[in-house]
Amino acid sequence: MDVTRAASVVAERARNGRLLVLTGAGISAECGIPTFRGKEGYWTRGSKVYHPMELATHRAFVEQPATVWGWYLYRRSVCRAASPGAGHRAVADMARLLGERFDLVTQNVDGLHARSGVPPERMYEIHGNIDAYRCARACTTRTYPVPERFDDWPKDRIPDAEDLAALACPACGGPGRPHVLWFDECYDEPRFRAESAMDAAARCDVLVVVGTSGATNLPMQIGALAVARKVPILDVNPEDGPFGDLARRSPGGGVLRAKAGEVLPGLSSAIAGAVGARRE
Ligand code: NAD
Repeated sequence: MDVTRAASVVAERARNGRLLVLTGAGISAECGIPTFRGKEGYWTRGSKVYHPMELATHRAFVEQPATVWGWYLYRRSVCRAASPGAGHRAVADMARLLGERFDLVTQNVDGLHARSGVPPERMYEIHGNIDAYRCARACTTRTYPVPERFDDWPKDRIPDAEDLAALACPACGGPGRPHVLWFDECYDEPRFRAESAMDAAARCDVLVVVGTSGATNLPMQIGALAVARKVPILDVNPEDGPFGDLARRSPGGGVLRAKAGEVLPGLSSAIAGAVGARRE
């Protein structure tokens, strides 16, 4: 599908209906934040190379909390150094244009959507936020900002006992953990807004999926629900994957084999045109 056709699908649906945008690591790849699938996502400790999907687990945290914290603190520094890109800005424009008819479900933990201006009440961070931590023993679901002393954490540094003490739960003094959803954990509403995200999928009139490989469960359920509801899906990704299959199966939907920053500004301009035309 070309951008012009995709823009007209989105504009037509968003004119009076609801838009749901679902983003993954690909939208932030253009801002210098590595995806999990790219080579930069891997982590070497001693002679062992870890795949992100084994390090981003509760099991890895239990076995080697300092190594896992070191990986997250370094990734947090990479996210803090990055700025929102053209894709994020276009998504924020869509949020402004559509107000309550817009929802964003993001798997990204980098905070770039919030920094580009998407209001918190329109956004579901279903995998958490790397800038926050919470009690590893779950004494409460409260989250806390990662302290400033961990800003600019170098790639090879492992936190020591004093560092880990600074990341302890302020409520019970037990160990703290990154506020993210690990691959061997389950979604929920209080921490990850999973039901709210499915509600958004149940009421959307068009779904735009950006930069996700479809390796996680809730995003795939969102795509499957959109197909079942016969909602058009547009998949923006330079590579094919499970969301490409869903997009091709959805009536009126299709795939855009392009980078997020190359096509999302065109989609938000089309929405601006449609919303403007409706107001006249
Ligand atoms: P993924 O790493 O599995 O897949 C990234 C996808 O983005 C791939 O399909 C790739 O083809 C596509 N892509 C690459 N460059 C792109 C571009 N410029 N425009 C559009 N698409 C592009 O990531 P995922 O599907 O989001 O899921 C895996 C997990 O990774 C999630 O749990 C997420 O929390 C975590 N993660 C988040 C970040 C972040 O917050 N920025 C970074 C890495 C991983």
